[in-house]
Amino acid sequence: MKEPQTHSGSTHLAGVTNADIDRSPGRVCANPRTHDIGSWAFNILGYAQRHAGPLLPALTAAIFARFNFHRAFGITPGQYQNFAAAANRLYRDNPFHNATHAADVLQCAYFIIARCGMRRYLDDQDILAVLICAITHDLDHPGVNNLHLQASNDPLYQAYPRSTLECHHAQLTLALLRDANHGLLSGLSESAQQQLREKIAHIILATDVQNSDQLKRNFAQTLEAAGTDPKNWRAKERNLLLLQVLMHASDISNSGRPAPVNKYWARCIHQEVRHQEAIEEQKGITIPHPSHECGLTLGQNQFHFISHSVLPLYEHLATLLPKTAIIVSNLKKNRDAWVVEDPGAGL
Ligand SMILES: [Zn+2]
Repeated sequence: MKEPQTHSGSTHLAGVTNADIDRSPGRVCANPRTHDIGSWAFNILGYAQRHAGPLLPALTAAIFARFNFHRAFGITPGQYQNFAAAANRLYRDNPFHNATHAADVLQCAYFIIARCGMRRYLDDQDILAVLICAITHDLDHPGVNNLHLQASNDPLYQAYPRSTLECHHAQLTLALLRDANHGLLSGLSESAQQQLREKIAHIILATDVQNSDQLKRNFAQTLEAAGTDPKNWRAKERNLLLLQVLMHASDISNSGRPAPVNKYWARCIHQEVRHQEAIEEQKGITIPHPSHECGLTLGQNQFHFISHSVLPLYEHLATLLPKTAIIVSNLKKNRDAWVVEDPGAGL
């Protein structure tokens, strides 16, 4: 079997072993939809195995080619490939928050837009904005969370005391969009660029998990008032809310992937959290981290994350987009499987 491809001289499939590949995409390789970028059975790890070169630009090219961004905005394949390559270089080699995660989020956003009916609610600019956000939303993530940055009085926290990482990711995204080397937005008027940049910044800021409950409440209330008629979602505030929900739902979607892939990502997250804890122990930093307070196991973390964060959001989304029910169904299966694997997980 081929080794995972690398970028910038480092593995972008950090922590992936051939055993992982065999357990996830390998096992479902018999299913041709595993490599179909428009399928929920799509498996990012299998896709990485099949493509030479960096994964994020390859997937960006495949997905952007399915939209007519050239006619709408004058964006050429060379421009979006160069943009994605530049974004790819800004990701670090973390166990979870890496370029592979960004690619996985990008495919989920595409799946919900193109295959679950979200496209009816969005125009070309909305789609471009959210796909850019999926590509860039964790740029230069250091592998530790906002609470850690605050507790260690990190320079990033000093620069952005609220939603520290999300402000950093958004700021880097805006800088990347202004970069003349790829000129991604050079075909747009200055006012259209400004509008797009503002939308992108608001979408990335909404990926802060601290704001997740508020986002869910807003979405539920707006859904109650607006129903499912696309014309009721065109007002600026509702449109932005929808884009933020789409981005956040895509960002936390790995819990709803087929079981072997969910387990792969769960181990990646767990590994990153353990690494953060090791740094805190070494430096004597104390933060109110759930796994510190409760000593949660991998199974407990996943059970609670799926039950209280991911599932409620996707249940609301399935009201608007019934075809996302496949994700809701997977979430329930995965939640129950974690209890079987770790009998204390649901306590
Ligand atoms: Zn993310």
